[in-house]
Amino acid sequence: MRKYEDTYRHKGLRKKLIDILKEKGITDNNVLEAINNIPRHYFLDSAFDEIAYEDRAFPISDGQTISQPYTVAYQTQLLQIKPGEKVLEIGTGSIYQASVLAEMGAKVFTIERQKNLFEKTKSFVLKSKYPTLKFFYGDGFEGLPTYAPFDKVIITAAAPFVPPKLIAQLKTGGKMVIPVDEGPHQRMLRLTKNADGSYEEEAFENFSFVPMLTGKNG
Ligand code: SAH
Repeated sequence: MRKYEDTYRHKGLRKKLIDILKEKGITDNNVLEAINNIPRHYFLDSAFDEIAYEDRAFPISDGQTISQPYTVAYQTQLLQIKPGEKVLEIGTGSIYQASVLAEMGAKVFTIERQKNLFEKTKSFVLKSKYPTLKFFYGDGFEGLPTYAPFDKVIITAAAPFVPPKLIAQLKTGGKMVIPVDEGPHQRMLRLTKNADGSYEEEAFENFSFVPMLTGKNG
C-alpha cells in the first residue's frame, strides 16, 4: 500500500510552483489557492515526488498525461469558477484538474474514455475530501445529457472542433474553455453561450494537448 504524506518539503515546493505560476501571469487568487492546497504528488507515481512540483506535463498510465500546472491554472482561471457551479470536464486523466475545480467549490462531473483510467478513479485517495466530484466512463463528445445543463464546461484534450452536444448542454450565459485544432498546437478558446443557442468566442494562448478521441476504449 502506498503511503500518502504531504510534508513541509512538499508544501515548500508547492509555494515555489505558485510563484512560478504568478510570474507566468496567473492572477486569480482562488485558482492559486486551490493549487496551493492540493498535494499534486498524490496524482503521480511515488517515484516522481519532486517532479510533481515542476511546471511541466508528465506521462501517467495508458499513454496519457497530467497537464502542466500552468495549463491547469490557465484553463481554470478562464472558467471563472464560483462555488456551487456545475462543471462538466472532458478528460479525467489523473483527476488533478477535476480536483482543482472541486477544491474551488464546484460540483464536478468528469468523463474519461479510457476504461483503465476510469477504474483508477474508484480508489482516488482524495475521494472523501471531494464528495461532489463524480466520475463517468464515456465519450466526452456526447457529454452527460442526464446531468445537463452545466454552468461551465472544460475540455482537457485537443478538440478537432467544438462539439455541438456540449454547447447544447451549457446554460445560457454559461462558459466553455476548449483547446481547438487538430495540428500540434491548439488555440485556447472561451465560448459564452447566447440565449438563442449560438455562442461568442474569445481566443487566448496556444497549448499542446493529447487528442480528444471519439468513442470509448476498453
Ligand atoms: N484533466 C486531466 C488531463 C488528462 S489528458 C488531468 O488533470 O490529468 C486528457 C485525457 O482526455 C486523457 O485521459 C484521455 O484519455 C481523455 N480523453 C480523450 N478523448 C476523450 C473523450 N472523447 N472523452 C473523454 N475523455 C477523453
